[in-house]
Amino acid sequence: GNVMLLSNKVDIILEKAMYEEELTSDEIKYLLLLSEKDDIAKMFRVARFLRYKYFKNKIFYYGFLYFSTFCRNNCNFCLYRKSNQIVQRYRKDKKEILEISEQLIASGVHLIDFTMGEDPYYLLNDENLEELMNLFKEIKTKFNIPLMVSPGVVSEKILDNFKIAGVNWYACYQETHNKKLYQKLRINQSFNERMEKKFYAKKIGLLIEEGILVGVGETVDDIINSFENMKILDADQVRVMSFIPQRNTPMENWISPQRIWELKIIAVMRLLFPDRLIPASLDVDGFSGLKDRLAAGANVITSIIPPRKGLKGVSNSELDIDDGKRSTDFITPFLMKHNLCPANKEEYEAWLLK
Ligand code: SAM
Ligand code: SF4
Repeated sequence: GNVMLLSNKVDIILEKAMYEEELTSDEIKYLLLLSEKDDIAKMFRVARFLRYKYFKNKIFYYGFLYFSTFCRNNCNFCLYRKSNQIVQRYRKDKKEILEISEQLIASGVHLIDFTMGEDPYYLLNDENLEELMNLFKEIKTKFNIPLMVSPGVVSEKILDNFKIAGVNWYACYQETHNKKLYQKLRINQSFNERMEKKFYAKKIGLLIEEGILVGVGETVDDIINSFENMKILDADQVRVMSFIPQRNTPMENWISPQRIWELKIIAVMRLLFPDRLIPASLDVDGFSGLKDRLAAGANVITSIIPPRKGLKGVSNSELDIDDGKRSTDFITPFLMKHNLCPANKEEYEAWLLK
């Protein structure tokens, strides 16, 4: 009777997804709301099937270099918001950035993500900014490695300069595409401007990473709306991260969401964006969170951070960093055990050129 029909519905939707037929919003919603273990497991299997179709068993490694933790903004969810006076901040100098980049590259990452708060030192001083551009050029010529920047919202001219310097990716997460919710998270920041900068970056030939934060008061429909926006943006990499409460911030007493929510969203993203890059971030639950995220269909491991350099993550500023559990040496044997393996440099770069 009913039970049969219900389980049929999952199978019908997943079969459509497997053949890459477009899903309706109702079908996407149905998948996001799955609660039976077996149904969710089936969805994850289809997600892995599609990952295999496009990427075989190859996983990409992204090094993370949070080179300045100064920020002019006051995002309610972030440890590094301007008003947080108790956080110790740093700005790595050129020599340190080069040294850390070199170490990351030697460890076998396919890309380095240069991340900063919206640091006025760079954004309001042309000379400092030019030095940063030169540093990117230098790294590019010296190591010939793909680069990503996560500088927050910057002018079109700065985006042009990133492109000229040889940067490949612009990462800028909207967190949510529900404008009302956005205003509660990214206090006093323009929703439209943040979106428009991504469209501009795409237009000048940068690859785009779009992302959402979950456990911040979003609804299922908000998630579906974000998927639609990711489609319109034609984002090359799409991500979801569970919110981690941060001390001394307005959301410090929020409860971090159940991880199954993030995992289901990863899987649905794989069904909707089968050939795109989808990260499993080490920043949310450290090394121990990797297995489930990969099983849900992720194909990039992000937030690889070298130990003992005094570097910070974002949502888990210290977790697994100094004991080396966010390093490739630690991760590769684990991948192999699960029938996955790191891609080589050429395989990653071939994807970028597609
Ligand atoms: N400052 C730039 C910006 O905001 O675009 C780039 C770095 S910012 C720290 C990168 C991302 O970290 C944010 O867009 C947000 O998605 C994520 N993040 C920050 N705080 C977080 C938290 N408490 N839990 C989960 N993710 C968080
Ligand atoms: Fe600044 Fe980025 Fe944190 Fe917002 S998320 S406070 S822009 S570092």
